[in-house]
Amino acid sequence: MNSSLNAARRSRELAEAADLVVDVLVVGLGATGAGAALDAASRGLSVAAIDAHDLAFGTSRWSSKMIHGGLRYLAKGQVKVAHESAVERGVLLRHTAPHLVRAQPYLLPLTPAVSGGRAATVMTGYRLGDGLRMAARTPRRLLPGPSRISAGRALSLAAPLSPHGLRGALLSWDGRLVDDARLVVALARTAASWGARILTRCRALELAGDGARVRDELTGSTFAIRARTVVNATGVWAAQLDPDIRMRPSRGTHLVLRPETLPGLRAGLHVPIPGESNRFALVLPQPDGRVYVGLTDEPVEGPVPDVPQAPEEDVAFLLDVLNSVLGVPLGRQDVAGTYAGLRPLLAAGGRTADLSREHALLTSRSGVVTVVGGKLTTYRRMAEDAVDRVVALGRLDAGGSRTARLPLVGTGPAREAEAGPDRAGVAPDRLRGRYGSEAGAVRALMAEDPALAEPVPTGITRAELVWAVRHEGALDVGDLLDRRTRIGLVPGDRAAALPAARAALTY
Ligand SMILES: Cc1cc2nc3c(=O)[nH]c(=O)nc-3n(C[C@H](O)[C@H](O)[C@H](O)COP(=O)(O)OP(=O)(O)OC[C@H]3O[C@@H](n4cnc5c(N)ncnc54)[C@H](O)[C@@H]3O)c2cc1C
Repeated sequence: MNSSLNAARRSRELAEAADLVVDVLVVGLGATGAGAALDAASRGLSVAAIDAHDLAFGTSRWSSKMIHGGLRYLAKGQVKVAHESAVERGVLLRHTAPHLVRAQPYLLPLTPAVSGGRAATVMTGYRLGDGLRMAARTPRRLLPGPSRISAGRALSLAAPLSPHGLRGALLSWDGRLVDDARLVVALARTAASWGARILTRCRALELAGDGARVRDELTGSTFAIRARTVVNATGVWAAQLDPDIRMRPSRGTHLVLRPETLPGLRAGLHVPIPGESNRFALVLPQPDGRVYVGLTDEPVEGPVPDVPQAPEEDVAFLLDVLNSVLGVPLGRQDVAGTYAGLRPLLAAGGRTADLSREHALLTSRSGVVTVVGGKLTTYRRMAEDAVDRVVALGRLDAGGSRTARLPLVGTGPAREAEAGPDRAGVAPDRLRGRYGSEAGAVRALMAEDPALAEPVPTGITRAELVWAVRHEGALDVGDLLDRRTRIGLVPGDRAAALPAARAALTY
């Protein structure tokens, strides 16, 4: 079946959904829910998957975009979580989304604040992380091993570092997503290609083991979706649909810097947080040239907002940590944007930074299966476990999960033949990095209408906005600027791109 999502398909499938009894209803289209929809549909089950807002509206778009090998968890003795992370990283890098996940180098600058003993301990950790890579059978050609490099080489990879007292750096590698929201879009579209009905702007008002009462957020009309089994994948909002669940969210804030703010930064940075033995701030260069700096971990009380805000104290904290390694310190005026996300952690004792990042499956009295916790890296495993549980619960006729070897939309060689001549002059690598095998089809749009090759902020072209409307389920300017592209992370860029986004919706 076709993987294209758009307004026409949504309307058609929404009308059909009211008359059906599907095998699996998935509520929430973040990485976990979109992954569950794909897992179930690719086992041959009939699936409807709904989100109150849009694909990747929740925590899945506020991550650090790392597909990590679980070193952090190893350091805490959580060997199972660490191993699971490393295996899932390998699955994404090798089989399911090699166009969306890349190896990223990180430097830990050896400044006077990092003692020789501490550097040796960190290097031992990196070597253990490399052992996890080997145990997960991810080849070194995809993810090189760690090494110690000289100060000169460190400065050539990260020019903004202060050279004063720099003894060198520890170089390590991990996985990184081109963009987290794009992973979710690829999952949802791949699920759609297996027949799943992907319905955004549909809010579950009430859940039971045999379906949900749903409100179409575009029209306000309410209706029922009947289902043999139900998966609640609403992340940090899960407790709103199952009152027996207790969440203890923790906020993570990132800063967004413009490309010109830290010129010459070719590697990410692990920056030790003063006073903490095992926590590092992350400096994360992005494919569009912007740099993200994260990340805080603060427990949050009270109602869960739709879009969390980054408080000024988080911004000041991250700037202080970043400035501890820079040659020329940055000020608040250098921060072009901020974003914050809430980790969907289950309530348990202890500080949120220490709560287990393992995922959990909880079955409600009415038979709804909630899948929560975990992380982006392990979405596939979470989805597999949730679908295994509902298959057993509903005695559904389905085999085991196939997703460990199931390529997502865009995986595969670029079909250049479709592209036509590259009259648009748009860097083919950039498009390939975002669209994989579909890059040629995006470029073909520009060949048809050269006006679509015009860039909007961050180098995104108008053709990509039109593509998002036709094939990626974008229904409004928010979907286009805040999720299909991440232009909106910098408010000034968002304002500049608004006319192009409006034009794409009616192109
Ligand atoms: C700051 C931060 C950084 C992180 N960095 C990383 C990282 O680098 N690597 C990593 O592996 N993990 C990372 N994580 C963890 C990871 O982002 C999350 O664990 C993961 O994204 C959770 O996905 P989810 O699908 O479970 O939830 P979400 O993405 O929150 O999806 C839930 C969806 O449910 C929808 N919804 C809510 N209520 C309803 C309703 N009533 N009806 C219908 N739909 C509803 C929402 O709109 C939302 O789209 C990070 C987390 C944070 C907070």
